[in-house]
Amino acid sequence: MSGLYARESRSVSTMAHLRFFPLAVTGGSGAYLTGDDGRRLLDFAASWGAASLGHAHPAVRAAVDRALSDQAGASYLSMANDICVLLAERLLALVPGRARGRVWFGHSGSDANETVARMVVAATGRPRILAFRGAYHGGTVGSMAVSGHPAQQGLRAAGLTLVPYPDSFAAGSPEAAMQQALAELERLFATEVPPHEVAAFFVEPIQSDGGMLVPPSGYFAAVEALCRKNGILIISDEVKVGLGRTGRFNAFGQAGFEPDIVVFGKGLGGGLPISAVVGPEALMNHSSAFSLQTVHGNPVCAAAALAVLDTIERENLVENADRTGQVLHEALTGLASKYAIIGDVRGRGLALGVELVNDRSTRKPARREAALAVFRAFELGLVLYYVGVESNVLELTPPLTLTEEEARQGVAILDRALGEVTQGLVDHKVLDGFSGW
Ligand code: PMP
Repeated sequence: MSGLYARESRSVSTMAHLRFFPLAVTGGSGAYLTGDDGRRLLDFAASWGAASLGHAHPAVRAAVDRALSDQAGASYLSMANDICVLLAERLLALVPGRARGRVWFGHSGSDANETVARMVVAATGRPRILAFRGAYHGGTVGSMAVSGHPAQQGLRAAGLTLVPYPDSFAAGSPEAAMQQALAELERLFATEVPPHEVAAFFVEPIQSDGGMLVPPSGYFAAVEALCRKNGILIISDEVKVGLGRTGRFNAFGQAGFEPDIVVFGKGLGGGLPISAVVGPEALMNHSSAFSLQTVHGNPVCAAAALAVLDTIERENLVENADRTGQVLHEALTGLASKYAIIGDVRGRGLALGVELVNDRSTRKPARREAALAVFRAFELGLVLYYVGVESNVLELTPPLTLTEEEARQGVAILDRALGEVTQGLVDHKVLDGFSGW
């Protein structure tokens, strides 16, 4: 990630792992970034999904400029501002069903999920929370406490129980994955985890950082039925895959369930820091659970978010994610017939994953090859990262504005990178000190 800066930021040898590419970005436009070495890079990561409209979208720039002048900068913070009121109304109109009530604004997916974790325990009086193994809900202590990703080991909350996310590739079929995951949930409810003690279940409609896992159809409907029967709230973490990325506006709708609480982040601000929790009044009125932080509800970030939502609608970006996503998916599937190292290509819309394995029958994770492919693709002009509990899944979350031509260009670069990696042509020295997450 890009949080650590040093004078040697651009030196490969200072990278804690391969997410630190040896380059400083000087600007960007659309799906492209420019580096301080003058190179243009096609961005299939879009800042882990935050650059939903690509880089420097004119609508976001204009909205931010306007908010800065109309709203006396971003200094109106101790009172509600009209831009946040408009944004709240807009989000409420976009979220159907039982979650529609009130909206809270934060800065990041992490602070939003942390707030929700406190709220559901306060509101229900139940001490336990369920989440998935491999789930990434944030990087603050409170959001790490309800996560199940290897990146957050050691900080889990005492009341947290992790359950398996259905992994169709690992299980051999969607049916087997669904059956195994539901059987484990039912076993837990019958033994260690009395369901009436569970406040809520944090879910990702597609488990992105855990490996871009797509749930089998019918799986979330079964989870929802179990939760309703036991009075367990369902929280849909839409931070990475919501707001159109999957080719549907709400990823939970596509996954076939209706949450009690919805969390938005990343792409909401188009790169500016803003997140939102949408939930019913009865829950959201537990205001003691909501932290008051000084720059929450910032009008400049809210203006960017309104511009993002307007642009998604005006430019038909949900449809674009669906259509261009299919082109990208097909091109990646084409690569799978060329490279045995590709075990699986999966995802929805512009949330896609390519799982690399050393052996298709044993599905042994190809971790080093994934890291090398990411690094080589960067050298060749394509930005993407790896995810997954084994760090062996290439993740593609390009801007929702991606064109079919850009989709094909990116796959051509990935083709070359995978070709060189599988032929042993990429210098392994770049991986010295590499340890996955
Ligand atoms: N939820 C999900 C599903 C995420 O993918 C992430 C970030 N990868 C977060 C929450 C945390 O968001 P942030 O980094 O903005 O705090």
